Amino acid sequence: MKLIEGFRDKDICAALIKQIEKEATGRYRFMEVCGSHTMAIARFGIKSILPENIELVSGPGCPVCVTPQCEIDGIFKLVEQGAVITTFGDMMKVPGSQGQNLQELKSAGADIRIVFSPLDAIKVAKETGKETVFIGIGFETTAPAVAAVALSAKQQGVKNVSVTPYNKTMPEVLGILLDDENLNIQGFVCPGHVTVVTGTSLYTPMAEHGMAAVITGFEPVDVLTSVLEMVRQVNSGKFEVKNMYGRVVSEKGNEKAQNILNTVYEKAGCWWRGIGWIDNSGLAFRPEYKEYDAFHKFGISLEGEKETPGCRCGEVLKGYIKASDCPLFGSACTPESPVGPCMVSSEGACAAVYKYGE
Ligand code: SF4
Ligand code: SF4
Repeated sequence: MKLIEGFRDKDICAALIKQIEKEATGRYRFMEVCGSHTMAIARFGIKSILPENIELVSGPGCPVCVTPQCEIDGIFKLVEQGAVITTFGDMMKVPGSQGQNLQELKSAGADIRIVFSPLDAIKVAKETGKETVFIGIGFETTAPAVAAVALSAKQQGVKNVSVTPYNKTMPEVLGILLDDENLNIQGFVCPGHVTVVTGTSLYTPMAEHGMAAVITGFEPVDVLTSVLEMVRQVNSGKFEVKNMYGRVVSEKGNEKAQNILNTVYEKAGCWWRGIGWIDNSGLAFRPEYKEYDAFHKFGISLEGEKETPGCRCGEVLKGYIKASDCPLFGSACTPESPVGPCMVSSEGACAAVYKYGE
């Protein structure tokens, strides 16, 4: 508790702001690529206390937001085929292209259960004896726990459980952002939890592209320290990957988690909402674990990316527009009645602005 309070200390924050104001002599535009950073920046009002010449924009950091409509619709096809669905709660309100969400299907009688660990899917499969699917959505952070479902089920000989292969990996999408000439940013606030698993070398290409890359935590002092560091790197023209979240992130990452990932999955291309198809940016089951791929098991194929009419999540996720620039923001699209996933997800860029303001 004391540890957290230290990272919320008003005097330290005030001193950091003062220093940023002193050193930020140009114009700066930085992007965070983590849903929890988006929420932390909104919740603590960081944008409002930074000088106006520093802009923070949200990138494709929330796993629910970047999951394309075709993958969401794949879940509804599993429900139609009678699978018991197990999922984290953040998927319950994401609308399919027909407008319905999992919460509504559950109310109508479908067997859809919120679980707190992917491994709970195995328990449900044993209890019900029915085909049970865990909705595996997330980046490197959650992918090892999702992969563990296949590992554990194989060890236990449980055959009636499977997983949607929706996990995505960060390096390739970061590469797309780096090559995007319209992006116009000078540094990244790098995702803390992803880096716990991957290690810090993930961000070397950013420094090589002449951008600041600072790994940091989720408290105001963390975020402000990272902004100051990025300002310094831009001012000096010397770019490097800086780990300012050493209390959690190590250089090499979590090698045990990396081994689990490499045992169960191999790299494969996948769709990203608003960005499109990116080669090698997803994780597919290796042949030895293919029987745990829900779409393989149920014979479901994904038809490519379909966008929700009117929703501008794609542009929000690339930092081209602010959430409030979307004409549906706050009118047709609210957290109670979301049109796109950036409003559904509790870590979505649109939900953050709706809740806390720009
Ligand atoms: S899992 Fe962690 S690092 Fe990834 S988006 Fe969520 S908070 Fe950020
Ligand atoms: S406000 Fe709603 S419709 Fe507009 S971009 Fe955000 S999620 Fe999509």
